[in-house]
Amino acid sequence: MECLATSRGRGGAGTPESMRGLLLTLLLLLAWQPAAASVELSLNDASISLGPYLSIYRDADGSLDVTDVLENDLPWERWHKESVSLGMDRADFWFRLEIDNQTPFPQQRLLEIAYPSLDKITIYQIRSGISDKEFVMGDELPFSNRPINHHYFVTPLDFRANETQTILIHVKTEGVLQLPLTLWEERAFAAYDQSRQLLAGMYFGVMLVMLLYNLFMFLGVGDRSHIYYVGFVLSVPLFVSSLMGYSFQYFWPDAPAWNGKSIGLFLTATVLFAGLFTNNFLELYRPEKPAWVRQGMKTMIGLICLMFLTVFLLDYNTMLRTVIITSVLACASALVVGVHGWITHQVQARFYVLAWSALLLGGIILAGNKFSLIPQNSFTDNAVQIGSSLLVVLLSFAMAERINNEKRKRYRAQMQALQNERKARNAQQEANRQLEAKVTERTEALARANATLQELSARDALTGLYNRRYLDELLVREYTRSYRHREPVSLLLLDIDHFKQFNDTYGHLVGDDCLRLVAACIEECANRAADTVARYGGEEFCVVLPDTDLEGAEAVAERIRQRTEKLRFEVAGKLVPITASLGVACHFPTQVDAAEALLKAADDALYSAKDAGRNRVACAPTHGATNTSDA
Ligand code: GH3
Ligand code: MG
Ligand code: MG
Repeated sequence: MECLATSRGRGGAGTPESMRGLLLTLLLLLAWQPAAASVELSLNDASISLGPYLSIYRDADGSLDVTDVLENDLPWERWHKESVSLGMDRADFWFRLEIDNQTPFPQQRLLEIAYPSLDKITIYQIRSGISDKEFVMGDELPFSNRPINHHYFVTPLDFRANETQTILIHVKTEGVLQLPLTLWEERAFAAYDQSRQLLAGMYFGVMLVMLLYNLFMFLGVGDRSHIYYVGFVLSVPLFVSSLMGYSFQYFWPDAPAWNGKSIGLFLTATVLFAGLFTNNFLELYRPEKPAWVRQGMKTMIGLICLMFLTVFLLDYNTMLRTVIITSVLACASALVVGVHGWITHQVQARFYVLAWSALLLGGIILAGNKFSLIPQNSFTDNAVQIGSSLLVVLLSFAMAERINNEKRKRYRAQMQALQNERKARNAQQEANRQLEAKVTERTEALARANATLQELSARDALTGLYNRRYLDELLVREYTRSYRHREPVSLLLLDIDHFKQFNDTYGHLVGDDCLRLVAACIEECANRAADTVARYGGEEFCVVLPDTDLEGAEAVAERIRQRTEKLRFEVAGKLVPITASLGVACHFPTQVDAAEALLKAADDALYSAKDAGRNRVACAPTHGATNTSDA
């Protein structure tokens, strides 16, 4: 309570002593605010969030030093909120707070400023109105300046028994000014910090694993989107580690100038790789994508490339604004093209949109926390890390899915090719089968034609009987067979009588008709299946009678002769008599090649029939019939 009174008194010191009129007093009374309460140290406080205890003074031209601040009565403004966020303001700021050690023991505390991007911070411990200790640090000063080796600004403060101290903090920064101030009991800080570092370690671990995984995927698969993704997974944790002060602590503690640029640079790299990855992954360059997507993507990537220049050319403040605006634009565009891909049924777009939404959600939670809409806790503190790890993991899934998709597509294409090949093979086989069938059919037709041809070549055109050529073959065959079977074979030779005269009288055409008639008559008379009638030549006919002896043959000959005689052949209404003479011969073959002798014998018999006056049958004596004929 005493402290409260003191601070009130100090707040009151800002009001003029002299009376300047009732109105002015009233106005000042309206403007009067009680000074911040002092922080009370007890034996069991673990951490105290210092936002509500702060008073702030904006030193627009940065002309004040600590003595000026202590000696002058400045219009301090009370800060009510938990978090201190003053946006981008290049002015110097002074923060003041009272800390009252209410215990009768000396106390040690740690003052933590959990925002590593402040350019220069000076912390003054004021005892009895004068600066007792000073700590100077900031990301524009070498890291070794810090009193405690930590990626945030952590300062050890000592308090004597029952002492009230004023802490003055002078902050000058180019970028966003935030001052998340906490006063920690040492052991509590160690405990809290341990889990915080563990979380950060996990985050960077996940990123490292994803980085290596995707690097190996790139080396293995060779898909270009993987190398962009590797770039992305490399720049995201670099950006986050710069943002959180880890890079400065571990990578370049003695290069504050570079450190100032690193955040912008890594953010730009992150956005650039995200853009390249998106372009490649969602195939935004494809001609079937609408022009606004293709052109928009190109413009976006051009813009991001320009951002690299701004990192080196512009001052930190302007650079940061440019980079942040471009990043937000890029993130929004990424979502838009992702959703467009999703709507147009691009499979890989689903994971992509989900991934970006995770990061966006992280960003929204962080922003909500910064604007005090969402209370601060370790979840909100790590929202961006959680969001970005989710993003990275989900995008890896998306890529794996894409590879799977490609594989499925390839597999389907292979199956299709295989099927087509099988179809083609089947068609080929079918064609072969058809061809074979056709060949067989043709061969059969050819065989039939050949048979017909052979038959034709064996026949005499005029009478339809076998011709001489066939007869010669047949006779040899039958003769041989009879020889083998020891059977008789007989032969008749028939010659139409006075046929020359007939021809001369009635003409050749009538002669031909006569020949046909006689041929039919002979065929009718030789009625055993084995009997063969042939035209021997001109008006001569031959009948081969296998297994027939002379007697039988003579009977056949006689029958033919009588039938011929009885033929009624009319020319111009007049009956023309036709007669024929026949010679008969019979062999019991005693040698296989005596067919000609049989023919000769029949011919001789025929001549004797002619000589004997025609229209008769003459028989040659049976040859080789000594024993068998009787049998
Ligand atoms: P013979 O009684 O002595 O047998 O007297 P021929 O007139 O019948 O004897 P020749 O052998 O001298 O005459 C055969 C005649 O048969 C000669 C020819 O005019 C006739 N001729 C032969 N082949 C054919 C034929 O294919 N068609 C016709 N129309 N006549 C034929
Ligand atoms: Mg003749
Ligand atoms: Mg004749």
